[in-house]
Amino acid sequence: MKNINTVIFDMDGVIVDGMPYHIKSWKEALSTIDMSVSDLDIYLMEGMTGRETMEIFVKKSNISISDETADKIIKLKRKIFNDIFTVTLIKGIKDFLLELKDRKYNLALVTGTRLEVVKKVLQVGLENIFEVIVTGEMVNKGKPNPEPYLKAVDELKATKGDCVVIENAPAGITSAKGAGLMCFAVQTSLSDEYLQDADRIFKDIDGVSKYLLNSS
Ligand SMILES: [Mg+2]
Repeated sequence: MKNINTVIFDMDGVIVDGMPYHIKSWKEALSTIDMSVSDLDIYLMEGMTGRETMEIFVKKSNISISDETADKIIKLKRKIFNDIFTVTLIKGIKDFLLELKDRKYNLALVTGTRLEVVKKVLQVGLENIFEVIVTGEMVNKGKPNPEPYLKAVDELKATKGDCVVIENAPAGITSAKGAGLMCFAVQTSLSDEYLQDADRIFKDIDGVSKYLLNSS
């Protein structure tokens, strides 16, 4: 795509297959207050910060809990996640990132996940890929609010029309579109019925790569 010189990546489900670990750690942490959530519930929150996810779980359930308890659950979820998380990259992503870098694209990472987890993910040979990284603790409002993607565009000093966002979850697509950006979605976690607000939907990263690079 001739007009695109900047690619902004979501992390979970686009770069790293972290969702199985998020799902397991949420379920375990919430079980300590007898709250149960489905895999789909968690997939639909993907991209949001832990705090925002917890707020929605509490709202949706009939259990009323104190802020203190909510804080404890968020901390416990993080602890379990940190204990079990192993970096598994999404198929095709490393080659795609290296090729984009080689072709002098400007690259950014925008995630609701914390910086300590992002650092762990990038240790697998992706340390020098992204010019700008926006993590969960760097914004006031996470996805689906446009703030994270707007912050990335601002820090990149990019023109919105030159950018494309790669996402895999509804909250992230809403955030990107709210920021006025083109958004491609990959079906790594959810099927296309949940991704309809994206400008294009691809089966996987190889599909995105072919479309973006072969048409430039
Ligand atoms: Mg994601």
